[in-house]
Order: sequence, then structure tokens, then C-alpha cells
Amino acid sequence: MAPGCAGVIAHVDMDAFYASVEAADHPEWAGRPLVVGGGKRGVVSAASYEARAHGVRSAMPMFQARRLCPRAVFVPVRMERYRQVSRVVMDTLRRFSPLVEPISVDEAFVDLAGTERLWGPAPQAGRAIKAAMAESTGLTCSVGIAPLRFLAKIASERDKPDGLTVVEELEAFLQTVLLKEISGVGPRAQGRLAELGLRRLVDVRALGAERLERVLGSLGRRLWELAHGIDPVGVGTGREVKSLSHELTFSQDLHKGRELAAHLLALCQKVARRLRAAGLAGHTVTLKLKHADHRTVTRRRRLKGPTDRTETIHAAARELLAAYGSVGPFRLIGVGVSGLNSTNRGPGELFAPAGGFRAGALETAEDELTRRFGSQAITRAGTLEASRPGGAQKRVTGARDGPPRGEGR
Ligand SMILES: [Mg+2]
Repeated sequence: MAPGCAGVIAHVDMDAFYASVEAADHPEWAGRPLVVGGGKRGVVSAASYEARAHGVRSAMPMFQARRLCPRAVFVPVRMERYRQVSRVVMDTLRRFSPLVEPISVDEAFVDLAGTERLWGPAPQAGRAIKAAMAESTGLTCSVGIAPLRFLAKIASERDKPDGLTVVEELEAFLQTVLLKEISGVGPRAQGRLAELGLRRLVDVRALGAERLERVLGSLGRRLWELAHGIDPVGVGTGREVKSLSHELTFSQDLHKGRELAAHLLALCQKVARRLRAAGLAGHTVTLKLKHADHRTVTRRRRLKGPTDRTETIHAAARELLAAYGSVGPFRLIGVGVSGLNSTNRGPGELFAPAGGFRAGALETAEDELTRRFGSQAITRAGTLEASRPGGAQKRVTGARDGPPRGEGR
């Protein structure tokens, strides 16, 4: 494998997202070209593939789109609705991995490393993602899967709409990559590269990193690395520490006591379950508390080794809570595990006897029931207090939910 190979990364991009959402919401427009846009800027925000066939493109003035395709349906942007569907999109992706990095409202990277036991090899995982997306949103997406982040993005663009491209042979695929396909290579950089007679990514290998850096600055250095299969950026890195957490906002503030303890156990259980589902374990447990006056505190404990076990996470979180010098009232409690690494273990496997075979077997049974019947299927006795009606509102925080920045293509 190439140096810097980061594992298995999927890039998932919804097809003509705004237009597809409008089409799904309005079956009466079926088969008609669809253009979303207008407003103050008076430009096209998104065009369906039928409208694109008439030459309509994003960022084109609306009057020009109307001239090119007069029989299209023209609709205004409904950002709230797209955000709503976007949340379903990202939640769907989080079923495949806790490491999901949204990069816009309709696009995300998904780290599939360590999920092979659950989702199978890359092509099978890609098909499963597309099927799950169709089922949860009624929309199509294009998926690229590659050992490197930048190649996953290029791969998803290669076959659109409703495509799946898996990069199996790194060098063979690198040979096909054009410089203009790489995000960050804008028209100006493309011009400079063309002057040097460079068109394909692998062409830059002949120049050497120093010369490229002189001509293009840091972009030159990066291109030289990419051409050699080095992409140090994984999913979510450079933004925050890899972590997985759940938190809960109460409808009524709570003091330390049985009810709060029950919520804490339920949260630990959820975090552990998601770790195991993804074949991940982490070595640091974080407790988050928000006081009634909105003051937020976090307390961390580093464990002796990585864990994906409810008991271990719960023991650490419970101690952190006991050691915290206030009894509340609190309006929110959260539990997170960070310092994540792949366990290279499928979710169905029994746990190593370090710390107890029985607990491991219990959790494996729990995971199986959860997979088959949903997370409400099992409730440990200690969490019953937490499920009383009117107890709390649920809010789930995934790892690194970035703010959506707008639609791609
Ligand atoms: Mg898109």
C-alpha cells in the first residue's frame, strides 16, 4: 500500500440535491425539467438532470435558464426543507460509521475503516449506502470509495447521477486523475499548470516537490504528495479530535440523584453500542454537564487502554460525576469517548476476557437485539428511571457535525 494510505473512505454526494428534493416533494412534476433558484441574486441554485440536458447550469442567471428551457418548472429555494432532508441524509450515513464528516448540506465523507465485518467489502458497502439512502430519503446519491480522501471525492464525481465508483488499484486510478479534478485547483492554478505542460496529476511527479512549491506555493507541495499517493487528511481530521458522544437535554433541570444516574447509564450504553457497531474503541471518556444557568463544564478521564464496553465507560463517567463539586441543578448531561481507533473486530465477536467474559457476552447479545429490533428493544434495569414519561428530550450528537455550507453538484 502507498505511504499515507488512510484506509477506506467513502465520499457520498446527493445528486442534484435541491432539485431532487423538490421533485420528490412534488410528484405532479414528474418528468419535467426542474430549476431551483431566483431570489435576490436571481441565479440558478440547482437544476435537475433533465434541465441540465438543455444547458441549464448552477449560478446561471434565471432569465437565461428560462430562455434555454421554457417548459421547466421554476421554483424558489426552500433552504429549511433541504436542511431537514440533509439531517436525514447524515443520520443515514451515521448508520454506517460514527466517523461522518459533512462538507456541505448534501455531501459527506464517511470513514469505513474497520466496518468491513459489518458492511462487507467496499463495493458491497457502497451499494448498501445507496440503498439505505433511497429508502430513507427517496433520493439517489453518487458514491466514491477509495483508500485516500481526495480520490474518494474524485471517484464520486466520475459516475453521476446514481453512480458507484470504487478505487481498487491505487496506481492505475492515479494515472487517470486530471489536475482540474482536484478540489483546490482553481482556474488560475490550472492555467499555471497548463503553462508547464501539466494536465494529469501524475505529470507533476517529474517536476519535484521544490520546483512545484516555487511555482504554486503550498498547493504545489500538496499536488506532489497527492501524485505519490500521499493524502494525510482522513475523515474529520484537522477539525477536532475523533470522538463519539451522546447528550441529553432535560425538560426539567435535574440534581444529582437516581434519575440523573439512570440517564448517565443510558448515555454510556448508547455510546458503547455505537462504538461496537463501528468496530471502534477509545481511551478517553468525557463527561459534559450544563448547569441550569447554561454554564457548561467538561471533565475527562484517560483510561488504561481503549474500550468499547458500557461498564468501563460508565465506571469512568460515574466517577467523574461523583467527583464534580456541584449537585446541580443541571439542564444537560453528555458522555463522549475520544481517542478512537479501530478494534479490527466485528460487532458480533465475543470480547477478550480482560475484565469479564460475561459482560462482553451480554453486550454482544444487546447489540444483536438492537440491530434486529431497534434501540428501544432493550433497556437495562438501571435506565428504566430515565425512560419515565416527561423525563427528558433526546438529542444525539454525532462525531463532528460540520455546518452545512451549501450544495455541490
Ligand atoms: Mg451534490
